[in-house]
This record gives sequence, structure tokens and C-alpha cells, in this order.
Amino acid sequence: MRTYQIGVMEGDGIGPEIVGETVKVLKAVQQSVDGLEIEFKYYPVGLSSFQSNGATLPEETVEGLKECDAGLLGPLTTHIYDTGNPNMINPSGALRKGFDLYANIRPTKTYEGVKTKFSDVDLVVVRENTEGMYADRNMHFNTGEFMPDPDTVLSFRVVTRKGSERLARVGFELAQGRKKKVTIVHKMNVLRKGCGLFYDSSLKVGKKYSDTVIDDYHIDAFAMHLIQRPEDFDVVVTTNMFGDILSDQAAGLVGGLGLAPGLNLGDSFLIAQATHGSAPDIAGRNIANPVAEILSAKMMLEWLGYRNGHQSAVHAASLIERAVEEAFKQKMMTTDLGGDLSTTEFGDKLVHFIQDSVIYEN
Ligand code: NAD
Repeated sequence: MRTYQIGVMEGDGIGPEIVGETVKVLKAVQQSVDGLEIEFKYYPVGLSSFQSNGATLPEETVEGLKECDAGLLGPLTTHIYDTGNPNMINPSGALRKGFDLYANIRPTKTYEGVKTKFSDVDLVVVRENTEGMYADRNMHFNTGEFMPDPDTVLSFRVVTRKGSERLARVGFELAQGRKKKVTIVHKMNVLRKGCGLFYDSSLKVGKKYSDTVIDDYHIDAFAMHLIQRPEDFDVVVTTNMFGDILSDQAAGLVGGLGLAPGLNLGDSFLIAQATHGSAPDIAGRNIANPVAEILSAKMMLEWLGYRNGHQSAVHAASLIERAVEEAFKQKMMTTDLGGDLSTTEFGDKLVHFIQDSVIYEN
């Protein structure tokens, strides 16, 4: 028996709804799988935390997470945070930087039963997560955006050899268990030094994987190829902002953001977090699709299992995925995918499939 302590942070907007369903599903696999115990520790983040604790990411949360094996984070309504207020930082960026979660792994996959334009997409964007263009995490002190005068903004982009190489390593390792193809996406024709360093570092790492096919594209051309022939790609390694955009674009190819999971991965910690934002337009209506967050938790269990050599956690992860597949095959889905289930009804179906023998027989 192995016990995992998971730090649960619900977040803003649809966060409490989708994280609630995710915890429900995790409790179901815990009951169904021998040798797996999960303790849920709830920590405040986001707007509700700002109201009750005076900070969007209070010290209590950071300290609590240090005692956990992994985190489960909901989305945050960051566009309304007052960036001038030091107590209103973006918890996502701060946690990624603070825990050195340098690789953001965002898979995209077609599911039988979900209507899409493409039938055979299975790719993963591996996005650098701690530097690049994202000003809230690319400086040791303060942010990477500066205003020399009220009409001028300087935004700094950071690319390091260490950051690029370790990111590439995650991508190439991931490709070993997949189709063994890695695509490096950059804008080396213009950002010669920064993207050049990223490309060279990725290629250097890739040389150690002689059986892996490597290709590369400029980001603008790749955006088109991704729309035209997404089935051709396997693992895409890229810098922070390119990866953020491409992973949302990829989600659009298979049914939308409700199906886009993600994992923030470092060498000693990881946080599961869906690709999408807090969807304020649908928050509080019990219609959000919880699949992205649930599959993020599935990835979390998978990585915990692999890292700890713990087969029960890997098995629990596969049960979650099979329950989602079964639900979609039976046309059970939320309204964003054309179904008629509410967020909680969908979560209940997954629990049913996990507890029921149906997915064990397939
Ligand atoms: P969004 O991802 O929240 O929403 C984009 C569209 O997708 C909306 O129409 C929304 O209803 C829909 N959508 C997203 N997730 C869904 C789900 N699970 N089920 C069904 N539909 C879903 O992007 P946005 O509207 O640009 O941003 C909203 C807020 O989220 C902003 O404050 C933004 O800063 C923040 N944001 C946070 C994160 C994060 O915390 N990781 C990521 C992206 C955006």
C-alpha cells in the first residue's frame, strides 16, 4: 500500500466544479484499486483565497504543497488580477516557477464517439514552462516587463541552454513510449539567438536518441501543418508561449478545451492542471466539461506510478482513461461536446464505469 498526499487547489470560475468531479473520480479509483491510498489536502488559491487570506497564493498553500507528493490545480481567472498588487500574483506561474515545474505536458487525442474533423490525432505538446516570454516567471526578481515611459513597454524573453535541454529531454523520453518522433518548433529565422539556442539544445539532446525521427518547423508554418495534418505529429517540443498557443489549437482539433489535460512536471514535484482557463462565461452552471481536469489527474497518477515504481497508481490511471473512453463511446458527454450531461452527471457516469466491471472486460 502506498499513500499519496495530493494538494488540491480549486481555483476560480469553473475550477471548484471540475476539481470537485476530479476528486470524486480519484476517490473511486482509490476504492477500486488495491495498494493505492490518496489523502486530499485542500489549500486556498485564487480569488476566494484573496478574499479570505489576503493573497491569491498564500504561504500556507506553498508550504502545504511542499509536504505533498503532487498538486491538483484548477484554473484561475488571472485576467482580472491586479498585477500591481504583490498579493495578487498568478498562482499558476508562481507555482511552476517556485517548484521548478519546467515541462508542461499537454496531450491531444481523438476519442471514439466525439465528433471531430480528424479521426486519428494523438500528439503531445511539451512546452517549456518556467522562462520564455512569460513575464511573470522569467526573472529572479520582479517581472520581465518594463515601462521606461507610459507609452513604451519592453517585454523580455528568456531562453537558456539548461531550460531548453531539460525540456527536450522530457520530450525525447516521452517519445520513446510513443511513435518515436519529435518535432522542434521555433522561430529561428527571426529570433536567431533565442530560438537558435532552443533548437541547437533540442537537437543536441535528440542525438542521443538515434532511433527517434526529428524534424523542425518555424512556428507560423507549423500552425498551418497542425491544422492540415495533425495525425502526422507525435511529440512537439517548443518554448513557453508557442507551446501555450499550439496546445489550445491542438485541443480545437479534437473537440475543444474541455478535452485538453496537462501536467506541470519538474524533477521532484508535479501539478496536474487542465490546459484551459477558468471559463467565466459558464462558471457556476454545472455545464463545464470536467474531462480535461480528470485526465490531468490521470496523468498525475501515471507519473507518480512510474517514478515510484508503483503499479497500482499506473493501473488507477488507466482505469480513469478507460472510463472516459467508455463514456464517450456510449455518447455520454457534456454539452460542449454535443451531449446532454451536466458536469456532475458526467462525473457520476465515470464513477459508475470505474466501479462497474464494464471497463475491466474491454
Ligand atoms: P478559457 O479557456 O477559460 O475559455 C475559452 C472558451 O472555452 C470559453 O468559451 C469557455 O467556456 C470554454 N471552455 C474552457 N474550458 C471549458 C470546459 N472545461 N468545459 C467547457 N467549456 C470550456 O479561456 P479565456 O476565456 O481566454 O480565459 C478565461 C480566464 O482564464 C482568464 O482570466 C484567463 O486569464 C484565465 N486562464 C487561466 C489559465 C490557467 O489557470 N491555467 C489558462 C488560460 C486562461
